[in-house]
Amino acid sequence: MKTRNDEVIGLFQDKVTELLLRHRSILDSLSKHAESSARVNRSITKTVTSCGCISINACRQQLPPEVSLESCRDYLSSHIEGELCEHCKEVIEEEIGNHLFYLVAICSLLGFRLEDILNGEHERLNALGFFRLS
Ligand SMILES: [Zn+2]
Repeated sequence: MKTRNDEVIGLFQDKVTELLLRHRSILDSLSKHAESSARVNRSITKTVTSCGCISINACRQQLPPEVSLESCRDYLSSHIEGELCEHCKEVIEEEIGNHLFYLVAICSLLGFRLEDILNGEHERLNALGFFRLS
């Protein structure tokens, strides 16, 4: 059964496919996808090193012995301190959107529908639950 989210994802993929002229070659899309991934990471790094709205304070994760898998999240830290400012949020969103464009372009060029992949992954997550640790 198609949901509203499936429709939005499908429309996004259709638009990407329509605009996929300059990067029609799978090689162009693969290299742009890799570049856009680096740009997402760079935009997040810049929030720390240039803006300073968030900082990263990392150390080894400490779990008490005998902690259940379900309550692990109560003890694990993201290592992020602070909140993204509006400017950084906007920049990161834009870079993630650009990254999604090339991911979807790769899907289209190989004949995959993103909504099928997302629904399949969602079903796998539901079935595996906490056992899918990666
Ligand atoms: Zn910021």
